[in-house]
Amino acid sequence: MMDLSTKIYLDYAATTPVDERVVEAMLPYFSRDFGNPSSVHGFGQQAEAALENARERIASVLQTSASEIVFTSCGTESDNLALRGAVLSQRTQRGANHLLITPVEHHAVGHTAEQLARYYGFELEYLPIDQYGCVDPQDVKARIRPDTALVSVIYANNEIGTINPVDEIGVVCREHGVLFHTDAVQAAAHLPINLEAAQIDLLAIGAHKFYGPKGVGALFIRKGSNLVPSQTGGAQEYGMRAGTQNIPYIVGMAEALRLARLERSERSGKLIPMRDRLIGQVLEEIPGVRLTGHPERRLPNHASFVFEGVDGNTLSMMLDGAGFACSSGSACKTGNPEPSGVLLALGLSPAWALGSLRVTLGKGTTPQEVDQFLSVLPGVVERVRALQG
Ligand SMILES: *Cc1c(COP(=O)(O)O)cnc(C)c1O
Repeated sequence: MMDLSTKIYLDYAATTPVDERVVEAMLPYFSRDFGNPSSVHGFGQQAEAALENARERIASVLQTSASEIVFTSCGTESDNLALRGAVLSQRTQRGANHLLITPVEHHAVGHTAEQLARYYGFELEYLPIDQYGCVDPQDVKARIRPDTALVSVIYANNEIGTINPVDEIGVVCREHGVLFHTDAVQAAAHLPINLEAAQIDLLAIGAHKFYGPKGVGALFIRKGSNLVPSQTGGAQEYGMRAGTQNIPYIVGMAEALRLARLERSERSGKLIPMRDRLIGQVLEEIPGVRLTGHPERRLPNHASFVFEGVDGNTLSMMLDGAGFACSSGSACKTGNPEPSGVLLALGLSPAWALGSLRVTLGKGTTPQEVDQFLSVLPGVVERVRALQG
């Protein structure tokens, strides 16, 4: 095993460690309270109570009702269920065949939409975005059609941190009677979500981005949205997602989300000054660098850059060697020499886009760690540039 104890982790957008309090909450549900929530006996009833309690707690944080929360195996599955489920249902109900997304989606949405176009014959259209990866609600208005089955816009971007005006986009979609999905897998960790107020029909979250376990997520499905389930079988999850629920992980997700809500302002209050100092100092001290994503409307823990004449993968490998875990682009693209589609969609040239670095802070990050990072980064960038000469 590698000794990681001296390394500094700055990749919280890729995943987070499970909070100790979350582990504690999960432990009883592995071996002691192990029942199947679908069983009628006491063991089953106890598991069902834990399941429904977790559902209530998640619904209360998101300000919605428990009957609108469906548990899944991850954020990706939630996005898949939202997209596939909505467009197949809308086509059956009213012949809607048009799918509107952005070019800056996570692959969980982007690749699902591409599959729906390629194998199911949906017409896929991309909304324009500005240089920061922001969608203008007026552009949604201009492109939405009577036969639009679904609009999907990422809430907060995993690669560039930009936060989209999903409330305004939701209003436009509702005015036109079109379902609106948002991928809130990054947003849920940091931003208040009020589904009672927002006109959002479908919203995906995943626990491991907010100090919960990997392999569990949820999808908010507004009453009346009528999805075709992607996984069929038993009647679990209101018939929207068959399969025995992962009780310990679901309990863990509920506790992690409760803590994220409870500690949100405290966490953001620590993160934002560190993020701003990091961004400010990198832009000031290193030549040939640009911030990616919006300068203000961005996640409180998120700093992302492109460096001219630098290979992002080499840069993150050298930083790893120097003791810092960051990423170039999104974690899913590790080892892929292609520039990120998200960065190209911002209008960056492939050469600039290849030089990406994402530094994402967590609730355990200290100002001293940021200082240490800032003291080594300029030298590492210089060395990568010299190497590539
Ligand atoms: C991580 C992430 C996903 C995928 O979630 P998993 O739980 O890892 O499947 C989807 N969308 C965004 C924006 C993400 O950051």
